[in-house]
Amino acid sequence: MKAAAFDYEKPADVAAAVKLLSGAQGMGKVIAGGQSLGPMLNLRLAQPQLLVDVRGIAEMCAVTETPEALTIGACVTHARIEDGKLPDATRGLLPAVAADIAYRAVRNRGTLGGSLAHADPAADWVNTLALLDAVAILQGPAGRRELKVTEFMHGPFATALAEDELLVAVRIARLSKAARWGYYKFCRKTGEFAEAIGAMLVDPERKVCRAVVGATTSVPHVVADARAIAERFMPDEALKAVEAAGLGDDPYERQMHFAALKRAAARMHGGGS
Ligand SMILES: Cc1cc2nc3c(=O)[nH]c(=O)nc-3n(C[C@H](O)[C@H](O)[C@H](O)COP(=O)(O)OP(=O)(O)OC[C@H]3O[C@@H](n4cnc5c(N)ncnc54)[C@H](O)[C@@H]3O)c2cc1C
Repeated sequence: MKAAAFDYEKPADVAAAVKLLSGAQGMGKVIAGGQSLGPMLNLRLAQPQLLVDVRGIAEMCAVTETPEALTIGACVTHARIEDGKLPDATRGLLPAVAADIAYRAVRNRGTLGGSLAHADPAADWVNTLALLDAVAILQGPAGRRELKVTEFMHGPFATALAEDELLVAVRIARLSKAARWGYYKFCRKTGEFAEAIGAMLVDPERKVCRAVVGATTSVPHVVADARAIAERFMPDEALKAVEAAGLGDDPYERQMHFAALKRAAARMHGGGS
């Protein structure tokens, strides 16, 4: 099947993109890498009248840093992150996650912002950015607003984005030198979305000890105080986290998510960071 006809615009800045989306009155759609939207267009699951291509917007492709944080433009590709083109504010976590997304052809075009805006519960950035307690920077006709990534995602394929709003960038707090992380995803073969994700971050200097049960049926389940799982892996506490993520009923699901957490902890303690 082919996509239904649409108009196409490639604005030069964020304000122009927002204006185009506002003018389209709900019939406009942002396109970034097109790795998720492309198939949806071709299957006619999405039939926008206007596509607003944001890849030419310099601000959305930029990466800036301060001593405290790294701000990554929404159009930065998985490949750019994988290739270490960004300052390493996360002690290697971002490049390691990027390298395991799909395969290189997808990573060359797919973007951090596109992945987050698409809000697939099994997507790697959705879960990694929740682990990092990152902040999403949005812009619409009323101006700019910031939301924690955990508030940005409302559910499977549902976010806080209004129809005429753009995800401009994501801000991540810089990890300290003592920070350690572990990330593990189960997928049947390379290039597939995860069936289960376990992720952990311990950063004592910043008093952070978080875990994520990921690839749930909805939003990532964040354990904000994960000492009982991350510092010393206590199986009962890990199972409690899996159950709190709504994955307790099916024994296969429960075991897979439990094992993902356990392996993430093992990677963290075994020098996975
Ligand atoms: C074969 C295959 C395997 C894959 N495997 C994985 C995997 O293992 N892990 C993983 O995490 N992902 C995987 N993906 C998804 C991939 O990472 C995509 O890049 C990502 O989901 C979407 O990014 P994109 O830039 O292509 O967005 P697009 O497809 O262009 O857009 C996706 C959605 O987000 C919206 N959007 C995009 N950018 C913005 C923005 N800046 N502001 C507001 N809305 C925006 C679009 O309107 C659309 O609704 C896979 C994809 C394919 C095709």
